[in-house]
Amino acid sequence: MPFVVGHVQPDTPRTDLPLERFLPPWHDGMASRWLNNYAAPGSWVLDPFGQSPFSVLEIAHAGYRVLVTANNPVSAFIIKVLATAPTLDEMQAALTLLGKSKSLSGQSLIEHIQSQYHLPCPVPDCASHADNTKAKSFEVERYIWHENQKQPSQATGKCKVCGHTTELELTDEHHKSLPPLPPVAMSRALALEKIAPPTDPLRAVMEDVVSYYTDRSLNLLLSILTQISSQEFSSRQKMLMQALFLSAADGGNQLWAYPMGRNRPRQLLCPPVYQEFNLWHSLENACHLWASQEKAITLRYYPEKLPQSGGICLFEGRLRELDPKPDPRQIETIYANLPRRNQAWWNLSGLWSGWLWGKEGVKTLRNSLLKQRYDWTWHATALEKVLARLKYLVRPAAPILLQVSELDPLFLLASVKAAQSAGFSLRTAACSGGVNILQTVWKFSPSQLTQYSINKVRDAAREIATDFLSNWGEPSGYMRLFTQMILGLQTRGLLFNQDATQANPPINKTQEDLDPVFTDPSLFHRFSPGVSTDTGTYWLASPPEYFSTLADNVEGIIRQEFLHSPQLSALDIAKAINHKHPGMMTPDHELVQTILRSYATRNEQDGQACWVLNENEQFTTRAQDIKSLREIIEKIARKLAIKRQISEEAIYFLDEHDHETYTFFVSASAMISETIQHHRGLSGKKLIVLPGGRANLVSYKLRRDPNLQAMMQDDWHFVKFRLLRNIYENPLLTRELFAYQILGDPPEYRVSQLALF
Ligand SMILES: [Zn+2]
Repeated sequence: MPFVVGHVQPDTPRTDLPLERFLPPWHDGMASRWLNNYAAPGSWVLDPFGQSPFSVLEIAHAGYRVLVTANNPVSAFIIKVLATAPTLDEMQAALTLLGKSKSLSGQSLIEHIQSQYHLPCPVPDCASHADNTKAKSFEVERYIWHENQKQPSQATGKCKVCGHTTELELTDEHHKSLPPLPPVAMSRALALEKIAPPTDPLRAVMEDVVSYYTDRSLNLLLSILTQISSQEFSSRQKMLMQALFLSAADGGNQLWAYPMGRNRPRQLLCPPVYQEFNLWHSLENACHLWASQEKAITLRYYPEKLPQSGGICLFEGRLRELDPKPDPRQIETIYANLPRRNQAWWNLSGLWSGWLWGKEGVKTLRNSLLKQRYDWTWHATALEKVLARLKYLVRPAAPILLQVSELDPLFLLASVKAAQSAGFSLRTAACSGGVNILQTVWKFSPSQLTQYSINKVRDAAREIATDFLSNWGEPSGYMRLFTQMILGLQTRGLLFNQDATQANPPINKTQEDLDPVFTDPSLFHRFSPGVSTDTGTYWLASPPEYFSTLADNVEGIIRQEFLHSPQLSALDIAKAINHKHPGMMTPDHELVQTILRSYATRNEQDGQACWVLNENEQFTTRAQDIKSLREIIEKIARKLAIKRQISEEAIYFLDEHDHETYTFFVSASAMISETIQHHRGLSGKKLIVLPGGRANLVSYKLRRDPNLQAMMQDDWHFVKFRLLRNIYENPLLTRELFAYQILGDPPEYRVSQLALF
């Protein structure tokens, strides 16, 4: 199966979505396009995890009827809110209303929050110092904390009077100038009161989660909560305010490393330096995140019916609690973007649910929060428990589409183990170019297990790797090769197949069992190896005699596509490439882009990326170039009185003994691997003559593929069309001058090709 890309090329996940840093990355269009290969819009799809709200919305939007079971109330809430597609105006109106609401003391919420983020401007001659009403004109964007300190040490922000932007070193005076907060113990107790009484074992769990909030954030969040629940807002307004609150509740915790990095936390861990955001700004920014949906989607609660035109049927609970059971003939496909183990997300979800919806709200999470285990072996079992129930709920022929995002070895193993143990067998799979997303399709039918021995597993893994690399044609990173092995072993019935002597071996054992294969020097030649097996790249110690490199194959496909049409959408290019490079063969994005930039120019058309073949790259123009260059080479030979020989592929300059001194391969492409392999036996210098526009590509190929580099012995060189023309036009050309100049302008790789030729 080719990897199915999203609508937007290159595939980049959307980050302007609420709480997305805890959820599987979402690529617009990927889920629905993939699903479309298996089921028509209008049919029923079941998402048994409900942990990828954005995929669920996308599928419903594409016209499917999606039954979602979600036992995380926050995920369910995201679906509920986004299904109504609030507009930016609506979100901002809700925030304005919330900001105006007054506490018992008569202060409005907005004033109360903002007062915690206003300091005097550090610029001495700022006009704010002359006007008492503007004395605190410096608005803090974020406080910066260092681990184990009682106060933040810096603040970044901007003066509203003079516009000065800076990072302030905070002094005691700064801290004292802020309005005092209520006593810490009181607010922490209040924050827990809503969720669990002191005797409840859940209390201790939540106490720990609350400790990831600064006093200021915690206090302000509680003030927001009080206002949302105490005022007379409509239920719609309350829902939108709760949505904003969730975003602020995430902005206010300590899980934001400073300076900004990936910030996709999986564990409650306080970074050594972290940032505490201005919560009012968090609320303002959140308006945009929650207004990200263009169209509302029909949302019903299970077991209400959905119209043929699609929508979401939500069940807030576990799959096994579905009541009544759905008719097994109804659901045609399973789709899930599998949840990964994420302690931070589940714990924060518990806290937030308790805050927003009280003890009742945290009910569905209670058990998992109390029995917290977040190792991968446990996670595999948790996934399996859900997957194993599917056979009672859907038709037996239903394809099961499981997507694994942010792929890593243990997540892969947990997912494959869960599916296999649930009684599925793998039909097909494909990975994204960056090997960070894996699309797998399973069917209901227990995998046929073969008799297990560790040697059998390793032999099979060797065979799988050899087959794969021979086709792949260049060294591969660990993750790609490892995934190929695991999927191959799964289909051969050799995975998770030890006899009962070891009841349930930890999942990382399977990875360790394969380490000797990776470190086997008779199998692999390793480039840039490190200590662990997951570093460097792997190539075959005994490669096939002839093979074509990945980069050449992809270039060939792109050239073929442009031959049909000089203008191609980025999406169609990706589809064509993935179609010819199915499974784990999907090439990486950078390679594709570098090849495209060598031939074409990127444009936007109707909001879609497309590539237009450059004028001088027209195939007829290039054919003429080649013809004229071959003539030039011949004329040079004549001019220098060198004996020559001509074949379809090359022009040879010969010495008096008929040995090749120079061989010219004139090419319009940078597809060089086969030429190098087929002509390595020639004597003399071997020159690949290519357009200047290919020079960057060819050096990129050599840079990324150390094996190709090794194949290019010293006697292979690249010559640009223009150099050869210049040499020919020199009236004083001699053999010595030719020998000197022909190697004088080797191509170099530059990231941007702009200033090159
Ligand atoms: Zn100022």
